[in-house]
Amino acid sequence: MSKIVVLGGGESGVGAALLAKSKGFDVFLSDQGLLKDAFQQSLANNAIRFESGEHSLNEILSADEIIISPGIPEKNEVVNAIKAKGISLISEIEFAARYTDAKIIAITGSNGKTTTTLLTYHLLKEAGFNVGLGGNIGQSFAKQVMENTYDYFVLEISSFQLDRCFSFKPDVAVLLNITPDHLDRYEYKFENYIFSKFRIFQNASAQTTSIYWADDVVIQQYLGHIPSTQEKTISFSRPDASAKIKEHHIEFSDGPFDLTTAPIQGPHNAINMSAAILAAEAVGIPLSDIKTYMTGFQNAPHRLEPCGDWNGISFVNDSKATNVDAVFYALNSFKKPIILIMGGVDKGNEYEVLDELVKEKVKALICLGKDNSKLESHFGPICPKIFSTDELETAIKKGMEWGVSGDVVLLSPACASFDLFKNYEDRGDQFKKAVKQLCHGN
Ligand code: ADP
Repeated sequence: MSKIVVLGGGESGVGAALLAKSKGFDVFLSDQGLLKDAFQQSLANNAIRFESGEHSLNEILSADEIIISPGIPEKNEVVNAIKAKGISLISEIEFAARYTDAKIIAITGSNGKTTTTLLTYHLLKEAGFNVGLGGNIGQSFAKQVMENTYDYFVLEISSFQLDRCFSFKPDVAVLLNITPDHLDRYEYKFENYIFSKFRIFQNASAQTTSIYWADDVVIQQYLGHIPSTQEKTISFSRPDASAKIKEHHIEFSDGPFDLTTAPIQGPHNAINMSAAILAAEAVGIPLSDIKTYMTGFQNAPHRLEPCGDWNGISFVNDSKATNVDAVFYALNSFKKPIILIMGGVDKGNEYEVLDELVKEKVKALICLGKDNSKLESHFGPICPKIFSTDELETAIKKGMEWGVSGDVVLLSPACASFDLFKNYEDRGDQFKKAVKQLCHGN
């Protein structure tokens, strides 16, 4: 019997272990941290051996194939030893895709993945498709492959997952945009990250529909990485593209889609909606139906989410903005003066692209993080007012003190959250709670 080792015991790792077990492999799961009780239970119930709090190298290196969770950095002793021994090292996505005949829509990009994935899923579901949602979102793809017989999957795919995909061949592949992110995981070389994103197209054939945002300057530069065998390559937004984003509508080959009444607003969401609509059309849903289904869509929280008003000042939670490009679009989404709360763990950010927008729109910057020095030195000279703190409440109070009616206090951090919070959800939830308490006393 072949042996599969799974590294990492979170949602994707445990799902992969369960699928591997159900396919008759000898499975061992190893996690350097502690596994959640529910995951331990699930592994035990399925007679899957596991360890937590350590990695037993001998056991790991006896595997025929190893599935690595996206959260585990490639630069670590165990991964080095696996590579040295030449053992196949793959992602949960690569593994699970081997065991399903469902058609797969896979969506990647630096920003907008979750929004576009949820929207595409919503459109297929509303159209009556037997469809699952997975990847970097919700329930493990592998677990769903084991439990369900979906005809379609809509998958959000991160660069870390793509790094360990080799034969994965989505039927519809979507690349939204590429801007610098996670450079700490890519040896601070942007090109490494770009190549990772283009792996979404690596196995594209004549049957694959490949969709990309043609205005993205990085995508334009690396277009040669989409295999030329493809007939169904669809781009959106340039004058010669299949779908064109205009100020108030998107022009599709079979008609316009009105942006003014769309359920998600802002220039970035026009990009996300173009991609989702093209993906839905690619599987046969007509635009006229898509327009109807679109109305019921609600995006996930923490993405430009309004969360309170106080004396005419609006508070907006954009905690999911963990890179500079997301903040760029957040600033572009408001016409009102902005008090911007930014900061956290810097991932190799280059803030220059925000300079013009900050000068034009940001009346004050509140830096919220353990180490705010980089933000202070970059924005100090261009921002009229700047304040630093490592306390969320203090940051909000400063926003209330500096704000006047008609302003927006926007939490859009450009950074990861791990210095002060558990994750971006925790940061956003705490922000919303504190705004409620401080502004409304509840
Ligand atoms: P992801 O899953 O790629 O992180 P999300 O849909 O969760 O994307 O959005 C993450 C952040 O990026 C949010 O702050 C959101 O407002 C912003 N955003 C969403 N779509 C885009 C886009 N197409 N371009 C730039 N920023 C975007």
